[in-house]
Amino acid sequence: MRTTPEIIRAKRDGQALTEDDLRGFVRGYTDGVIPDYQAAALMMAFFFRGMETAELIAWTDAMLHSGDVLDLSDIPGYKVDKHSTGGVGDKVSLILAPLVAEAGVKVPMISGRGLGHTGGTLDKLESIPGFRTDQSVTRFRELVATLNVGLIGQTSEIAPADKKLYALRDVTSTVECIPLIASSIMSKKLAEGIDGLVLDVKTGSGAFMADPNDARELARTMVRIGKGAGKDIVALITDMNQPLGRCVGNSLEVIESCEILRGRGPADLRDLTVALSAEMLVMAGHSTTITEAQAELQQILDSGAALERFQRIAEAQGGDPAALADYTLLPTARNRVEARSERSGFVTDFDCAEVGRAAMLLGAGRARKEDAINPAVGIELQVERGSRVEAGEPVALIHYDGDERLAAATRRLLDAIVLADDAPTPTPLIIDRID
Ligand code: URA
Repeated sequence: MRTTPEIIRAKRDGQALTEDDLRGFVRGYTDGVIPDYQAAALMMAFFFRGMETAELIAWTDAMLHSGDVLDLSDIPGYKVDKHSTGGVGDKVSLILAPLVAEAGVKVPMISGRGLGHTGGTLDKLESIPGFRTDQSVTRFRELVATLNVGLIGQTSEIAPADKKLYALRDVTSTVECIPLIASSIMSKKLAEGIDGLVLDVKTGSGAFMADPNDARELARTMVRIGKGAGKDIVALITDMNQPLGRCVGNSLEVIESCEILRGRGPADLRDLTVALSAEMLVMAGHSTTITEAQAELQQILDSGAALERFQRIAEAQGGDPAALADYTLLPTARNRVEARSERSGFVTDFDCAEVGRAAMLLGAGRARKEDAINPAVGIELQVERGSRVEAGEPVALIHYDGDERLAAATRRLLDAIVLADDAPTPTPLIIDRID
């Protein structure tokens, strides 16, 4: 058994660590026996030296077993979840979970909150009056068994080692390290008791990984960890150079999700949700091909059955199902104002993170974990990549409650919409698939 300084030195010098080294380190750090300064030194060594596949798998497994691991094996049927690395206007989970559940596949979904420019599924769900995401594990199991789906938040008992290490990485400039990111995400997902996982790894100006090659590398690393843990796993690399759908802001995103669930709404959001959901149906053995799965999912959306499933989920989790049909029952901002373009041209690009930050300024997001959010406010874009606008025409409708930060949010939003004289060439929404 190596001592902690020996483990740090070995990694610093480029040697692979053993399973014993890694498990011992994670246990020691979680229990408080290994201090922050030694953990910080090891994180920096990982940052520069990386991790081999065997190290990645052992490290992730140690973090996942640092806390509770859900066992859903007594619930019949294949269980599959989807995880997105986060973006702006990404409300896919709200649509995909009831849609896949309606097709007959079980979705135990454990989601997070929004931070910075990216939104979070829990905040969106909680903008539905009464909706509770803090369900007990027993209730979560009942929901998955009876409705095929439960939508809850991460408990502090899931992967506590990751929680502690992530906080340390945040203040030691070691977050931006692909093996550490991949193992951090996967340790939490693998604790959910799932059989399979579909990853949506976003790339572009609103994504954690702006460069598509970094996104591919992150996806490949997560796929390697998932396979090493004996799970089915596939990743789609998807575009986040413009917000997904038209709405950014919690209750506005619930409305847009309901529109898709009744067979309407923006095409990009519908297409991406159907693509990810189809991967889940094929993975679960419910469909033989992606084409067959997509046809079934389109039919479910057009029939309105997925919306009814969402209403049943909302009701089972304490929410008001009527609010998903009568949107006036959702939190609504006191005021609306149009943001108007200052020049003419084609929309060629978005600084997508800046759109997210504009919504955050209105109160839709949080800068720090402990900040409160306002579920009613947000931005409804009226243009997309390729739209033609004339000077003075509206590009977005801003839903706001107070005037204080309206001017700053409007400025940020207008600056985030890039206009040029020539129309842009179309870009694909789904850039790659990694399995
Ligand atoms: N999200 C996570 O959960 N972990 C990371 O390390 C980075 C992003």
